[in-house]
Amino acid sequence: MTDLIDKTDKIIAAEVARGLAAVRGRPGLVPHGACHYCDEPLAPALRFCNIDCRDDYEKELAAKTRAGRPG
Ligand SMILES: [Zn+2]
Repeated sequence: MTDLIDKTDKIIAAEVARGLAAVRGRPGLVPHGACHYCDEPLAPALRFCNIDCRDDYEKELAAKTRAGRPG
């Protein structure tokens, strides 16, 4: 039985590592002086003009990712 648990542990560890790699591999959003969602001009360090834009952007991104078209 120990072998089975050992094997399962390895499978779980591999799955976790794969998940982490996928998250880390996603290119981060770089601030470019405008809102990434609505293109409103912003201070250079900001990526979104407000939380609504950020949430909407992330919802769209998640929908695209689910549809198999990341980015
Ligand atoms: Zn915006």
